[in-house]
Amino acid sequence: MLAEMGVRVWAPREDASARQATEPVQTDRAAAAAPTVAVRQRADASPQVVVQASPPPADLPQVPLPDGVDQMDWATLQVTVASCRACGLCESRQNTVFGAGDTQADWMVVGEAPGENEDRQGEPFVGAAGQLLDNMLRAVGRSRSGVGTQGAYIANVLKCRPPANRNPLPAEVAQCEPYLARQVALLQPRLILAMGRFAVQALLKTNEPIGKLRGQVHQYRGVPVIVTYHPAYLLRTPTDKAKAWADLCLALETVGAPPGPVSTKD
Ligand code: URA
Repeated sequence: MLAEMGVRVWAPREDASARQATEPVQTDRAAAAAPTVAVRQRADASPQVVVQASPPPADLPQVPLPDGVDQMDWATLQVTVASCRACGLCESRQNTVFGAGDTQADWMVVGEAPGENEDRQGEPFVGAAGQLLDNMLRAVGRSRSGVGTQGAYIANVLKCRPPANRNPLPAEVAQCEPYLARQVALLQPRLILAMGRFAVQALLKTNEPIGKLRGQVHQYRGVPVIVTYHPAYLLRTPTDKAKAWADLCLALETVGAPPGPVSTKD
């Protein structure tokens, strides 16, 4: 199981000390968009500073969200998201990325926002980070094609790709939030796995770093939330995969392991 995640339970000492110096506060999206120097500055800064430093959006809102998002069924919600023009991201997107997985799945994974591949394909987590996410889910007996207790429904905080993979703006998160809230209400998962800073901030309304929030069971509208690192961060920092594995174990403890082997719709 650990091999699927690429987890090594021992870590070289120099990696461990270097890791302590930098709080993981960004995903590959930010790394792709920013030069190395900026990455290092941001990794050293506190998450609060990064969030507050986001420029105010000049172009919000365009067309307000329709009334009744909180009453919509899956199909209506998906159609509504596909035609959403509530923020400037609608101008640059190729596709909205609504979510993927069984709508009866009892785990929900919440990521950040679509990247280039996801924008092109209209599916969440289809790149390298998605492969790692799939391996992480497989390690706990779940998959995006699994059903019910062996499935995981995957959604993002933002349904549209931020240009050049920049970080989501607070106003974009606020505009998009009713969609995620409705997905949670429709799915009624037994557990939410919040992956990365933006998922954690959106769900838990906190700027605390992930390192401080891990290891506890949080709540979002009555649903247990386990905080863990974003797969893109884990690709850059494989020495933290052991921590992510511990987070998955906490998730399993929280809801109980699924019975039997993974079943898929394929
Ligand atoms: N990163 C995310 O957070 N979500 C995706 O869908 C892809 C990459």
